[in-house]
Amino acid sequence: NDTPKSLAQEDSQYVLHPASSITALLDQGPQMIVSAKGSTITDADGNELLDAVGGLWCVNAGYGRPELAQVVKEATEQLAYYHTFSNASNPWQVQLAKKLLQLAPSNLGKVYFGSGGSDANDTLVKIAWHYHSLRGKSTKTKVIAREQAYHGTSISTASLTGLGGFHKEYPLPLDFVLHTDCPHFYTRGLEGETEQQFCDRLIDNVAKLIEKEGADNIAAFFAEPIHAAGGIIEPPAGYYPKLKTLLKQHDILLVADEVVCGYGRLGTWFGSDQLDIEPDMLSTAKGLTSGYFPMSAAFITDEIFDVLKEGSAKIGAFSHGYTYSGHPVGCAVALANLNIIENEGLVERAKENGAYLHARLLEELGDHKNVGEIRGRGLLAGVQLVKDKVNKELPDPADKWPAKVTAMMRKNGVIVRPLPSVGTLAISPPLVITRDEIDRLVSEIKAAIDAEIA
Ligand code: PMP
Repeated sequence: NDTPKSLAQEDSQYVLHPASSITALLDQGPQMIVSAKGSTITDADGNELLDAVGGLWCVNAGYGRPELAQVVKEATEQLAYYHTFSNASNPWQVQLAKKLLQLAPSNLGKVYFGSGGSDANDTLVKIAWHYHSLRGKSTKTKVIAREQAYHGTSISTASLTGLGGFHKEYPLPLDFVLHTDCPHFYTRGLEGETEQQFCDRLIDNVAKLIEKEGADNIAAFFAEPIHAAGGIIEPPAGYYPKLKTLLKQHDILLVADEVVCGYGRLGTWFGSDQLDIEPDMLSTAKGLTSGYFPMSAAFITDEIFDVLKEGSAKIGAFSHGYTYSGHPVGCAVALANLNIIENEGLVERAKENGAYLHARLLEELGDHKNVGEIRGRGLLAGVQLVKDKVNKELPDPADKWPAKVTAMMRKNGVIVRPLPSVGTLAISPPLVITRDEIDRLVSEIKAAIDAEIA
């Protein structure tokens, strides 16, 4: 006679949870979610919580969609015998790829499916290596990523990640990775430096890094359009076009990691559209299925594909693949999810309600003495906590301000995410969030900052 509550009590005897303290879980048990609808989740005690991070920046179409449940059922029934690996395909895979390539930046021409954001980025590292090697440039193996970036949790993508906490227990980062500056003017601009000077300094630092390591040794540069887990950080205007020009000069591929920004989050289908990125490759996951199925899609240009195609004639298969690449149920769910986003105008809604969210945050918190910066675009927002607004003094990590604020908010029924490395609160709700819910979210943030810090 298992009940959600009794199972919650047993959970930690059997389950090793991701990214969490084993002892705290043994002590307190997990949060057991039993149902969800729209932007609200309900736990085993019957508490309703407004989920303003959408799972993990994921549930773009909102929770509890019967259309998606129906698609899972139908696709499972139709393809009870699952087989797509290698040469086999399924109708949904082709329809999904076609649809994605209509929506994605126009220079992207082929798509590779996997199961999550980390494996999509792994795939793109390998494609970059393979692409250069087939063109006789096999020494191009290093990959540049930025401090405060998050690219995943596999051994290579944890290496690309520029958050030290993901390395410290392991022999990481692997030495194919080079880290360059986090493009955050607020926390990293120098005394007296303008934002444009900051931008030029960072691009110059990338140029120096390329010179030092040798362009012949560098394959690719990975960039989240807006850093998500590292602090909701957007580079200064003009950063990406300058970066792209520099990388192009040195035959280095630019990879946009749109695992968070993709599928409407910023108020356009992709962050690259808005931030003028023109990537050679692009990775997505999360919002691709709104979290209803583990799926990723990694995009490459036709030019890269042509090199792989020619290589295939010479050396045979591209030796890389996952059991679940192009999974029929995943592809069917992704296709239905994209139709929901399109038919319900959720990208436009993210733009409009995103503008509303930012306006409300500024109204309530813009002048707050412990809020230094409100940043982000669309329905991705960050609230920078500060000890001193004038000197931009960040909170002491030992004081755990973000965690205290988010714990208080959770008690009051609203979930936002603490980003401790920069003292920031992260907001990334389902794109269906209503204006009333946004009002509630903003007032709970203010109340919790006032109660816990001010
Ligand atoms: N890239 C970014 C920008 C992410 O935020 C994440 C996940 N939070 C990943 C990659 C990795 O995705 P996954 O957890 O599905 O492997």
